[in-house]
Amino acid sequence: MAAKKEIEELKRMIVKLKRKKGAIILAHNYQREEVQDVADFIGDSLELSRTAAQTDSNFIVFCGVRFMAETAKILSPKKLVVHPVPMARCPMADMVTADDILELRKEYPRAKFVCYVNTNADVKAECDVCCTSANAVQVLQRIDADEIVFVPDRNLALYARRFVKDKSIIPWNGWCYVHKRIGLEEVKRSKEMHQDALLVVHPECNPEVIDIADEVKSTGGMVKLASESNHRKFLIGTEEGLIRRLRREHPDKIFMSAGTPRTCYNMKLITLHDVYEALINESPEVELPEDILRRARGCVERMLQLV
Ligand code: SF4
Repeated sequence: MAAKKEIEELKRMIVKLKRKKGAIILAHNYQREEVQDVADFIGDSLELSRTAAQTDSNFIVFCGVRFMAETAKILSPKKLVVHPVPMARCPMADMVTADDILELRKEYPRAKFVCYVNTNADVKAECDVCCTSANAVQVLQRIDADEIVFVPDRNLALYARRFVKDKSIIPWNGWCYVHKRIGLEEVKRSKEMHQDALLVVHPECNPEVIDIADEVKSTGGMVKLASESNHRKFLIGTEEGLIRRLRREHPDKIFMSAGTPRTCYNMKLITLHDVYEALINESPEVELPEDILRRARGCVERMLQLV
């Protein structure tokens, strides 16, 4: 009980402090519930970065993993972007380095390089075009190239490849440990138990899970589908933070995890205390070399031109 009171008090202090400092707090869909409670905007990584760029505020507290805070900085280079826990990183983003891209360019000299937004800024700086899970298919269809190296998520590359038959797509072997753990047998069991539910999974899931899904959606797509669909019951194949958000926003509908609920522990590293400290100290700031910022911005902007 005392802990609950303390959490509520801390939330009040954060809201007061962010108003006083004119800051905005952005939180990814997979953040802790109490962190989402103090956020001005909740969304996926690109939605949040665009919000950071569009807001009048010059002080952004970004609650997500490192590459997301970097993307906000890439799109808002003049703003103060603070990432409360720098060690909150995405293991999948760390599976490919800028040196890997330079080596791959020697191996595939004719190819264009597409990177998922889940990459670090120095990797984006070495790639041609960025994409998100929502627009990967469109980017691959529209990019002017016959041969495309796609990093880092193999499952997303394999999913997008289903819709882009006329190009050679070479996937890197990265994966998201959260989505990879969503197993076929447990999803099948959930489906059998809830035959009236719509099975919606993220494209980072394994191909055999995607094969039995009714819909394949990014987190932003899942939020939209939950609002627009006439279905009442959903089996969701993604990180449990999003499922909590859907339950909060649609108390009249039923959202269940497809199989065992899966947690991204890297996303949960940011606590309310960290958010408070970040607001007080206006740090740790996201800083990137000017050259990386400029080239990574080109990679993201080329995506925005294509979609
Ligand atoms: S859910 Fe997967 S892709 Fe997203 S931050 Fe966690 S490890 Fe990375």
